[in-house]
Amino acid sequence: MKVVKFGGSSIASATQFKKVHDIVLEDTDRHYVVPSAPGKRNKEDTKVTDLLILAYSHHNKDDFEEIYDRIKARYNGIITELGLDISLEEDFKEIKEEIKKQNSFDYTISRGEYLNGKVLANYLGFDFIDAADVIYIDKHGRYDEKKTDAALTKALSEHDYAVVPGFYGQLNDESGRIKAFSRGGSDVTGSIVAKCACADLYENWTDVSGFLIADPRIVKDPKPIATITYKELRELSYMGASVLHQNSIFPVRNEGIPILIKNTNSPEDAGTLIVESTCHKPDHVITGIAGKKDFMSIYVYKKHMSNEVGFIRKALSILEKYHISIEHIPSGIDSFNIVVEKKEIEESLYEILAHFKDELKPDKLTVQEDLALISTVGKNMSDKPGTSGKLFGALGKNNINIVMIAQGSDEINITVGVKKKDFTKTVQVIYDTFVGGNEE
Ligand code: ADP
Ligand code: ASP
Ligand code: MG
Repeated sequence: MKVVKFGGSSIASATQFKKVHDIVLEDTDRHYVVPSAPGKRNKEDTKVTDLLILAYSHHNKDDFEEIYDRIKARYNGIITELGLDISLEEDFKEIKEEIKKQNSFDYTISRGEYLNGKVLANYLGFDFIDAADVIYIDKHGRYDEKKTDAALTKALSEHDYAVVPGFYGQLNDESGRIKAFSRGGSDVTGSIVAKCACADLYENWTDVSGFLIADPRIVKDPKPIATITYKELRELSYMGASVLHQNSIFPVRNEGIPILIKNTNSPEDAGTLIVESTCHKPDHVITGIAGKKDFMSIYVYKKHMSNEVGFIRKALSILEKYHISIEHIPSGIDSFNIVVEKKEIEESLYEILAHFKDELKPDKLTVQEDLALISTVGKNMSDKPGTSGKLFGALGKNNINIVMIAQGSDEINITVGVKKKDFTKTVQVIYDTFVGGNEE
């Protein structure tokens, strides 16, 4: 039994709906389908979720009607072109009233998936299960496993074939209000449905032929990864490989349900299988590369710091007071760097630096802005001596200055910090060095 999730671009138009229809119906094992909201039909297009966000913030502006009509047109276009016997007019009326009342942002942004789910269920001839009745989410956007498992397992047992819209559920505080996951969250819904259906496989259908070794927007035609472990994938998706939402592995991982990433526009391609462990020998030492741009690093130096017990703890507790989560803390004998996401610290940076000065009395305190982090990930890197030397050597040869190095304790990743302007080049050099034919 399979659970299948289709991303926004996979299901953005009537043409895409036809592809989805063929994929789902060609295999009777595909019992439960989780759709996103209609995404972009081309580069210049706007996702329905983004139109809903715009409509919410323009609720009292002159262009509201125009924005809302664009949303309606996306669904009506699909319904007309497919010749479906369904009308969303009542829903459109109700959603518009709710947006005007400004009662709930989460309700508004969830309607993209809700409406798409209704249309898709009608087209496939499947039942429709409203995610608001079966998925419970806490106020921080994490799913409530206990409540969800009970409600969703029961609902699935009552419907042989069904569509469950992605991205949202009900707030778990008895208020009955809608709560959405963070952006890209339909991947998480798919994983929860796969878990509760006790599926053999969670298929995640998107617009690329699997998880690629690097972001295709940075490296031209990167090779796909045939098999990857959950652990490697988690590192890559956390570091910005946006194919899968970073939280989507958790529900299926404990149940041992593999995820298969497939391309809706090229279903014959093998895709990427995500598993707990594999004896599959990869073609390259590294499995993948991913990176993110907007980081900042605080450098603290103090003579004889190593003799001062609790020094780093003091620095960390200052950041904790400001609720700032830390990415890396590479350290030397008398110094350390604290790397954080820029957007987290920007507002309180000067206050934090003042606390550092008062409480740590450092000999040197500097801030490095515009830092990018690039992680090279691979479970086989630890068996192959010289991998980091090769990586650093290649960056040096290409005049890329490494400002920070961090290696995860389980040796499946090497993270380098470089200036933001060197981000793209760094990813390309690492790809060429380990994959692009230069491998010794
Ligand atoms: P969906 O709408 O199907 O959920 P997403 O846009 O969330 O799809 O994710 C797929 C996109 O992720 C691809 O189109 C690609 O641009 C981007 N991407 C970033 N890194 C990678 C990678 N390593 N492999 C494949 N795609 C990647
Ligand atoms: N439609 C939502 C978004 O654009 C959720 C998703 O696509 O997974 O973020
Ligand atoms: Mg996505």
